[in-house]
Amino acid sequence: MKLQQIILELEQWAPPALQESYDNAGLITGSLDWEITGAICTLDTTPEVVAEAVKQGCNLIVSHHPIVFQGLKRITGQNYVERTIILAIQHKIAIYAIHTNLDNITSGVNRRIAEKLGLENLQILMPIGGKLAKLTTFCPTAHTEQVLSALFEAGAGHIGNYSECSFSTEGKGTFKAGSGTNPFVGIEGVRHSEKEERIEVVLPQYAQGRIVEALQKAHPYEEVAYDIYPMLNTWQDIGAGMIGTLPSAMDAQEFLQYLSKQFHLQAIRHTQPPKKTIQKVAICGGAGSFLIKKSLQSGADAFVTSDIKYHEFFDAEGMMLTDIGHWESEQFTIDLLAEFLQAKFPTFAVLKTGVVTNPVHYFLG
Ligand SMILES: [Zn+2]
Repeated sequence: MKLQQIILELEQWAPPALQESYDNAGLITGSLDWEITGAICTLDTTPEVVAEAVKQGCNLIVSHHPIVFQGLKRITGQNYVERTIILAIQHKIAIYAIHTNLDNITSGVNRRIAEKLGLENLQILMPIGGKLAKLTTFCPTAHTEQVLSALFEAGAGHIGNYSECSFSTEGKGTFKAGSGTNPFVGIEGVRHSEKEERIEVVLPQYAQGRIVEALQKAHPYEEVAYDIYPMLNTWQDIGAGMIGTLPSAMDAQEFLQYLSKQFHLQAIRHTQPPKKTIQKVAICGGAGSFLIKKSLQSGADAFVTSDIKYHEFFDAEGMMLTDIGHWESEQFTIDLLAEFLQAKFPTFAVLKTGVVTNPVHYFLG
């Protein structure tokens, strides 16, 4: 199995273009043409995880957190990042990170957290903006079907749980073929008018290249007319955090107990338990303080996340803000990654790390 094949599947699931601007998801060490002997899934890549991969005969580490975030100026083994990279390169281990792009999709990190809590009616808490575009093209009526199919096949026309969404209007197109052309209809040097359909479809901006290529292949004209507009809409299927409802309301104490049990927690930092019951729950795996306001606005009774600072707890304004720990909140991402790869490559060795990479320990005095 070539590394490229594995990455192709991972990136169809969680496109790297959906990662946040500060992130560094993608291939960090290794080469696309490497033959992969096995993959090991982890939240963090540490020297211990690289050593484990070597021992298990896996030359690919699929990690949620990227080991390298910023540029390295020297690699001398002075810190754990440099030591991890050195060890990976020495042992020819590829490291692939799938981070905020996996946070931002509906089948990613937060979906798994929601499943652990049994949340229903799930929605993205803060849908992303500025990532969609509209494509319009003009096609002779008899060829509309083949052009539409090609556009859908390439990834255009998705709105929520609906696919193959488009709108067409009939009209009349005109053109005059210049010298040296080979027009599909009409003749050189004479204005031609043709019954055409104007087709509109929505597309992710990151897929524009692929979709325009598919359009040009499927369209019968030598010169294909199309326009692409950026859209101001938010993308309801992509974004940070999720919100959903518990099948039945719990009082605050009951909810904390439940949270503790589902995530095997030693401790939960939380704001004053509210008197009202908890049913609407916002979640965000990892550092989620940027979503406190949004959770409040969305009417969440509780927000489950991690890495909350002292002053941020004050912002909860009556909502129960719970900090369950960064590693604890994302721990099931390891299962998520392993299950995805195993389903895509059933005969391939996919392992979950046995190293608990959580750097935080609790002293319960
Ligand atoms: Zn994280």
